Amino acid sequence: MNQPIWRTILFMMVAATLFNIGYGFLQREAAQHAEISYSRFRSELAENNLKSVRFKGVGASGEFLKKVQVTETVQGREVTREVGAFTTTMPAAADPSLLAELAARKVEISAATTETSPFTAFLVSLLPWLLIIGVWWYISRAARTQGPAGMMGGFAKSGARMYGSGEKVDVTFEDVAGMENSKLELKEIVDYLKDPGQFRRIGGKVPKGVLLVGPPGTGKTLLARAVAGEAGVNFFTISASQFIEMFVGVGASRVRDLFANAKKGAPSIIFIDELDAVGRSRGTGFGGGHDEREQTLNQLLSEMDGFDQHEEVIVLAATNRPDVLDPALLRPGRFDRHVVIERPDWRDREKILRVHSRKVALADNIDFVTIAKGTPGMTGADLESLVNEAAILASRENAAAVTMAHLEQAKDKLLMGGERKMVISDSEKRLTAYHEAGHTLVARLLPGTDPIHKVTIIPRGMALGVTQQLPEDDRYHYPRSYLENRIAVALGGRAAERLVFGEVSTGAQSDLKMVTDLAEKMVCQWGMSEKIGPVVYTRGEEHPFLGRKLAEEKGFSEAMAWRIDQEITALVRHGEEVADELVRDNRDRLDALATALQEEETLDGSRVDQILRPASPD
Ligand code: ADP
Ligand code: ZN
Repeated sequence: MNQPIWRTILFMMVAATLFNIGYGFLQREAAQHAEISYSRFRSELAENNLKSVRFKGVGASGEFLKKVQVTETVQGREVTREVGAFTTTMPAAADPSLLAELAARKVEISAATTETSPFTAFLVSLLPWLLIIGVWWYISRAARTQGPAGMMGGFAKSGARMYGSGEKVDVTFEDVAGMENSKLELKEIVDYLKDPGQFRRIGGKVPKGVLLVGPPGTGKTLLARAVAGEAGVNFFTISASQFIEMFVGVGASRVRDLFANAKKGAPSIIFIDELDAVGRSRGTGFGGGHDEREQTLNQLLSEMDGFDQHEEVIVLAATNRPDVLDPALLRPGRFDRHVVIERPDWRDREKILRVHSRKVALADNIDFVTIAKGTPGMTGADLESLVNEAAILASRENAAAVTMAHLEQAKDKLLMGGERKMVISDSEKRLTAYHEAGHTLVARLLPGTDPIHKVTIIPRGMALGVTQQLPEDDRYHYPRSYLENRIAVALGGRAAERLVFGEVSTGAQSDLKMVTDLAEKMVCQWGMSEKIGPVVYTRGEEHPFLGRKLAEEKGFSEAMAWRIDQEITALVRHGEEVADELVRDNRDRLDALATALQEEETLDGSRVDQILRPASPD
């Protein structure tokens, strides 16, 4: 719960109490007199019970000589009480005999003018203005000292505490299990923050912004804190979604404050979580309120540009969607360094399980490797809750220690439980392993393809597995044979599925899209088809948001369109034949790769070579 809201509630409660007290006074006052009808007034007069009357406009008020009983309807109930004074309203046409009768019965008469004095009128007319000026003054002061969030509930100095002040953290790399590559990449920043002078002397280039990219729960925040902890510097943090939550202008002023405070507390780390909340590319025009977001983003950009060489502040930011970020954020001098954080493989999952069970009493039979291997796709956060869940189960049973059974039970509970975790069943895992093995095998067997960098069945984004090829050099020209091979490689996953399982699954959709696009380009743009010839045909641009072709302005005949389709199909069919043949003729190697993938989850290039090398004594 954030503080300004609490304060607002408190403020309202106090105000309401004061109002009640004031209202109470008025009511006690009201208890002394009653509103009576004009006839009642006349009858009291007739009975000589009036002491005084004061006229004001059509109203009159006064005192009785002795108290009278009045019956009123209060909240639907009739209430009778005694009062000593009254007010009444006279009928529109003034009663000409009244004054004489009052005088005759010796009632004290007075009157008041209905006009307010010019001075009072002047003061009253000023009131709204005073109110407006007062509020304006208050807001601008609040905005100056703590950002417009200060408006909320008024006296919220706490706004500053929420996001503006740094903290020392005691988390170190020790507490981050696995992630050795990411730690290595961030080590440089730790070195810089520890001793900036030394770092510059040896000629290190000081980074300003580092983007941590990875799915939620994979430990980005943890890693950022650990960098601050390792370097022993102040840690300033905010989640970007908080920037834009309340009032216009909050985001930009918070960014300004955050950076100002971080500079004051330098050396320091600023950590911005969920950067994509403000960092989405500008001008896509989706959703309301993006003005606020743009202002915030612009402020962020200008703060980062404002750093000079001597500022010992480094900005870390986390996102799961680097693809939607505004390109301006990724330019040199801003977030130009990227550290990709992936879902942990089973070795890292084992380490994470160990880290989180440090404080848990464990039985002797615990085998973390088994649990780790049984939880592909789980993130650090998932594994942390797995251990917690197991501890809860154990304590509910009054067990002395967490056993293997508790861990298994906790795992099942997490897998079945409400929120579906990204966890893959064994059969899915096998399918993915064969699919990726198919890509890998075809890529390795065809000449002239890019070397395999890595193949994994750990889910990434939408994909259940990934086969990564990295070109040895940057290429600008692609020969036709190279492109044909790429089509075959992309179809290798499907070919393997069909060979092993007898049918294909939906998993190959993105492969097919890639293949179709590539074949179309070869035919229509690069003149790689004999039948079509060296001509460019535009088949309509893809709409960037709708994901479909815009209305086509075809500059060619239906007959040509038909021939183009034939050629595209032929290219794809050819690739399919090549892939099918390769996986069929090398079934043993396909099996070996798929088995290794299921065991180890991720294989790098040299491991793939090792598996595919014909068994020969080294
Ligand atoms: P993110 O910022 O990527 O969403 P967090 O850093 O908030 O993820 O991680 C959530 C929790 O998961 C952390 O508090 C930590 O306890 C646990 N966790 C994630 N990754 C690891 C890891 N590699 N080692 C230890 N704990 C981890
Ligand atoms: Zn595939």
